[in-house]
Order: sequence, then C-alpha cells, then structure tokens
Amino acid sequence: MELPLYILSRKKIVLFILVCATAAFLVFFSAKSRIFVSSGPAVQSREIVREISKSVPEGATFDVLAKEAGVNGDGIAAILAAAKRVYDLNTIVSGRVLAFARDEGGETSRVVYHIDDTSRLVVEKEEGGAWEGRRESIPYTVVYETASSLIESSLYETIVSSGLDERLAIALSEIFAWQIDFAADVQKGDGFRVYYEKRYLDGAYAMPGRILAAEFINNGKTYRGFFFRGSESREGYYDEDGNALQKVFLKSPLQYKYISSGYTTRIRRVSSLGLSGPHRGIDYAASYGTPAVSVGDGIVLRAGWNKYLGWSAEVRHNDTYKTVYGHFQSFARGIKRGVRVTQGQVVGYVGSSGYSTGPHLHFEMHKNGAYVNPFTIDVPPGEPITSSDQELFYRVIGRIRQLAGF
Ligand SMILES: [Zn+2]
Repeated sequence: MELPLYILSRKKIVLFILVCATAAFLVFFSAKSRIFVSSGPAVQSREIVREISKSVPEGATFDVLAKEAGVNGDGIAAILAAAKRVYDLNTIVSGRVLAFARDEGGETSRVVYHIDDTSRLVVEKEEGGAWEGRRESIPYTVVYETASSLIESSLYETIVSSGLDERLAIALSEIFAWQIDFAADVQKGDGFRVYYEKRYLDGAYAMPGRILAAEFINNGKTYRGFFFRGSESREGYYDEDGNALQKVFLKSPLQYKYISSGYTTRIRRVSSLGLSGPHRGIDYAASYGTPAVSVGDGIVLRAGWNKYLGWSAEVRHNDTYKTVYGHFQSFARGIKRGVRVTQGQVVGYVGSSGYSTGPHLHFEMHKNGAYVNPFTIDVPPGEPITSSDQELFYRVIGRIRQLAGF
C-alpha cells in the first residue's frame, strides 16, 4: 500500500467550458428528473420560450412523443425528413434525451435528440418554415475531479454509497478488466482513486466523462492506468511505463457490468484447479442467467451439449489459446459453431446443466492443447506506446499525475 488514506476526497481542479453559444438558452437537462420546463431569453431567430426535455420512455416512438408535444402530422413528417440525413428519428432509443422547444406562438420550432453521449441531433424550423437538421457536439461543461475510496463490500456498493455515479464503477472496471477479476477478486481493503471528467449540461450534472487516470489497489498490489492518445500509438490506457493495459484476454468471463447491480455481488470462484482429476477448470458461482462472456476475440469451435459440461461452448482465440464455458442455462443468441465472437461478447447464460450441483460457470483455458491456469499464465502484453510517442506520453501523464495527485 503506498497511498496514505482513502477517504473520499473530491477536488474540483479545472473548469472547462466547451461550447455554449447555441445552448445558452437551454436550461432544462437533468439526468435524473424526467421533465424540466423552463423559460428564458432567446438568442435564436425564432424565439424559443419554452422547452420540454425528457428521456425517451421504454417502447415510445418519436411519432407518439411528438404528438404529445403538440406537433401535428405534417410537422412530424417534415421533422423526420429533415432529420433523416443525420439520424432516423424512427429509431430513437429509450433513456436518451429528447426535447421539443416552442416559439412565442406556441409552435414547435426546434427538436433535440441525443444520439449518443457526445453528440446530438438538432432539427430547427427556419424563417421560411422549412426544417433543417444537423449534428452537433453536446455542449457539456466539463469539471475534472478526483475521487477515491476504500472498498467496503463491492466496488459498486462503495461507489454508490460514496455518492458517486454508478457508471464510474463500470468505467473503472473496464480500464482494469485485463488486470483484475472484478467479479471475484475485489475485496474489503482494496481501494481506488480516479481522476475523471464530470459532464454538466446547462448547469445540471449529466454523466461521468472520460477517466484520465485511475489507480486500483487489489490485494495489496497497485495498478495504474492513464489515458493517452498519441499520434501513432493506439488510443487507450497505459501504465506509467507506457505498457498498454489491454491484453489478449479479460481476467474474468463474468463481466463486471452484468454483476454490478447490487444483489448479485456474491460471486466467488468456488473451486480452483483440479489439475490431476477430471475437473480442470475454474468454477464461478453465480446466479442463474448471469451472462458469461468470451474472454477474447475468437471463433466458436463448438456450442452444444456435452454430458459433463451440459450446454457448453468452446472458443478458439488463435493458434495457441482456446477457452471453454460450461453448464449454461442457455446460449446467447447467434452462438453456434463457426461464429466469430469478440472479447466481452455474451456466449451463454449461467445455469446448472450437465454434471453440476448448482448454478455456476465452469471456465477452462487451454494453451497449445493443454489445460492452463488462466490466473497464473503470462498473458501477452498489448502494444506499448511507440517510441515516437514516448516523449509526449511522459509529458502528458506527468501532467495528469500532478493534477490527479498520484
Ligand atoms: Zn467446473
């Protein structure tokens, strides 16, 4: 342990205003509240006096929401047509922000939809009455902050009970997904520290942005990751020596984001290796239906019934490595022999089929045809930063470390 204390500490360090010109009059957004209404001065050619913003409810269509907002059929058709070049509003996703703004006459003159976390569609009615669609960056205000805590029970519960955004737990687990098995290895006494962006929109907190630096102490070992985008190196997280954190395999076939919802955090590796007996694998106790993911890119060699492993699958990653997943309740959609899978893709759902006494995932890794312990093999490292990026890398992370305080 080299960090003195892990009391939750937050420090606002830098305040960046990204873009604000067009958004000065939008005073509506909130990630939690469903609807915000506000009125204020307008800067647009057509005065916007009122804007209603909400997150798209499950199963709702643009058509219905637009009608609710008072747009007539012709208006809806015109908005859809103007938006189409940028985004097809017939495919809006639940949970994303959709806003309708009205002008003085009470007519809808502007529609905003958040396409993803960083960009949005804006459709506006021009002076002549024609609608125009464009894509623009969401004008977040970004505040950089440091947060740290000792792990009490699980990462997820610690993050939530510290008043931090739960999405931070997932982002953190993804940075160290190749180093730490967040499904099984995280324990009381571990600790983390992150230096990250907090995104605000129109004064209200919206979401965590990028983590620029992260540190995780797991079982006494310190892991650090720094975000770096060089001119030649791949964008991603690197340790302080410039080694990529991303490796060939994930540490766990049970991905953190699936088990982080609080009540399923009791996952433990229940038995380790029986290298001499018939049992050559690692068993993860987990609830029925927990998704099991492929630890690396590969091709499905086999997906079907095995009298010992029940519903099970084998994934060939390359000439050297193969992994096996057993006792599924069911397979993920599309998983069958010959199909290509990517790292983190769900292969099947935890069950108790075959020789099994309770729900668990049986996991094996084979190297050159022989069983290996995935926790002790040396996994090939990802590409380090290129030599031409080195100078910049050390300068950038030196600065980040200064700001982050680690
Ligand atoms: Zn087993």
